[in-house]
Amino acid sequence: MRIDILTLFPQLCETFFSESIIGRARKKGSISINCHQIRDYANDKHNRVDDKPYGGGKGMLMLAEPIAACFEVICEAIGCRPRFIYMSPKGQVLNHKKVTELAKFDNLAILCGHYEGVDERILEVFIDEQISIGDYVVTGGEIPAIILVDAISRLTPGVLSNEECFNEESHSNKLLEYPQYTKPAIWRGSSVPEVLLSGHHANIAEWKQQQSLIVTEKCRPDLIK
Ligand code: SAM
Repeated sequence: MRIDILTLFPQLCETFFSESIIGRARKKGSISINCHQIRDYANDKHNRVDDKPYGGGKGMLMLAEPIAACFEVICEAIGCRPRFIYMSPKGQVLNHKKVTELAKFDNLAILCGHYEGVDERILEVFIDEQISIGDYVVTGGEIPAIILVDAISRLTPGVLSNEECFNEESHSNKLLEYPQYTKPAIWRGSSVPEVLLSGHHANIAEWKQQQSLIVTEKCRPDLIK
């Protein structure tokens, strides 16, 4: 899996993707994540990447041309056209099903908007789909892109180790995860459920299944429906 991120703040994304599980996965080559500075593709002497919207309105809009030029250079470098996603509060709200769908692509490119967003013609001519991280607005597409890339990376073969395996996690089988405990067995008078100390694998598996249902009913009854 290769993911290219088009942004005005590549260092912000790069910092996140250099650490922890994803940082390690990048080092061993399980996933390729490349952050591109859109400003490098500005075509005037002031390196301008935004301007006022036609018809008036507050704020600035990102210019179409630097984004288009950046995307075209990425396409040329990869030798194919990646699926091109724009992070936007107008997009389809992200969920596990969408993450699973996107994790099947070999190449993705993700555009992070800033200020008031981007010239609409970029969406008309280049963007395949818009994805939102929820029904609220944040200042830029970088954090939404980080969330999307992080979720996709976890499903990419080789990124998680066996211990970090994702197929028992919340949402992976439509239920939320069962409660988990670690040492000590008694903490401030509160004990770990006895079954987890029993070593009886079948009973433990049954307990986890029951607890998943209980937690889902309590926290997200809409998922049970
Ligand atoms: N003017 C835009 C609107 O009302 O739809 C909002 C622009 S927002 C301040 C700047 C950028 O942040 C957007 O272009 C988008 O890339 C990103 N963004 C903001 N909220 C988002 C969300 N909920 N999901 C994904 N991206 C978001």
